Formats: sequence, C-alpha cells, structure tokens
Amino acid sequence: MTQQIRRVLVRSIEDITIERVPAPVPEDHELLVHTRVVGICGSDTHAAGGHHPFIDLPYRPGHEAVGVVARAGKGAGAFAPGDRVIVEPNLYCGTCAQCRSGRYNICRELKVFGCQTPGAMTDLFTIPADRVHRVPEGMSDVEAALVEPLATPVHAVAKAGDLTGRSVAVLGAGPIGLFTLLAARHAGAARIAVTDPLEGKRERALRLGADAALPAGAPALVARARAALGGP
Ligand SMILES: [Zn+2]
Ligand SMILES: [Zn+2]
Repeated sequence: MTQQIRRVLVRSIEDITIERVPAPVPEDHELLVHTRVVGICGSDTHAAGGHHPFIDLPYRPGHEAVGVVARAGKGAGAFAPGDRVIVEPNLYCGTCAQCRSGRYNICRELKVFGCQTPGAMTDLFTIPADRVHRVPEGMSDVEAALVEPLATPVHAVAKAGDLTGRSVAVLGAGPIGLFTLLAARHAGAARIAVTDPLEGKRERALRLGADAALPAGAPALVARARAALGGP
C-alpha cells in the first residue's frame, strides 16, 4: 500500500486544513526530507489572505524549513539518510540570462518552494539536492528555520556596501527589520536607528542593540532619526 502523508492545504485564511496524499517519491537528483520545523513567513499570511501577487490559492505552504533526509536519490550527491538540512527555496531554471550570470534569485522562470510548489508543512517532501544546505552541529532546529528569512537581510546589507563606521536607518522592526539590524551591526555599522509604529516592536529592537527606536509616523521623524544617528 502506498504510504500516505499529511500536508497543510491553504484555501483561504478561513479554510486551512490538512490533506492526505501519497508520499512523494524522490527522483535521482532529489532528496526525500522529513520535516522538523517550518516557519510562517509574512508572505504566508499575505497569501492566505489572498493578497500575495505571486501565490495563487489554494497552495501548500512552507519555505522556511528544516528537516532530516529520509532517502537520497541515486544522483543526489553526498547526502545520506539522517542528514539535517535547511531548504534554499529558489527553484531556478539554470538557463535564462539571469541564471547564467549567477543571479538565480531573479530567474525568469523562478518558482519558490512552498509558494508556487508544495512546501514543507507536511510529513515528507521532495526537493532537488542542490536546494538544501547541511545544518551545522550545535544549531537548533528553530535556529536553522530562521536561516532563510535571515538570508534576505544579509543580502540587503551586502548590497549596501561597506557599512564600517556608517549610520544606518532600518524602517520596520518586524522579523526582517530586526534581522537587518543584526546584519548591519555584524557588518560594522556604528549607529543604527529603527522605526516602527508599535511600541513592543521598538522595545525588541532596543533589546537587540538598536541605538534608537523611533515611532514611525511621528512628527519630525527624519530630524529625530538624524539626531539619533549623530548626523547633521
Ligand atoms: Zn519568506
Ligand atoms: Zn533561470
């Protein structure tokens, strides 16, 4: 008898259920992965609400994922059952101009695992072996599930150039804004101001090392941010 798995099915924000489907079978270049932890991204809440421009309902979510390899296809490289992995969810074509120039994150045919394909909120999923990374020993499953959302702020900070000794303003203290704060500090930023409309989020930014946390929308916000950053 074919093994059945459970998988989260989102039809709308009011209609999120668990479907039972046959377990996927990995192709030669793929891994079969047993899910351990999956994050809920802001884009998942937008998608469930029907507001995401690139995710059509219904969909099967889960792109911030950590799991354990259950089976490796014949051509799946050095992975073996028991390896703990995180997902890099960009499923790219490899042949378009962007892919050939190394910028596969903006592939013309880009599909995001768990957005335009079934994701990791399931017992078992398959994924190409080159779309996962090993989790270092000593990193917890929850920490590993945060690597994917951390990658965007790290990329943004890298694109900002050398931040050594610079002043940085981060607009918004949600998870991505807070990770941007941490990434900018790690990159050598001297002073960092964060804005957010919610006091609780501003307090969290201060706990994570922001030099100032300012209420977004407050009068003279720009002048206050400049003053907090020691600028003109
Ligand atoms: Zn996301
Ligand atoms: Zn491509």
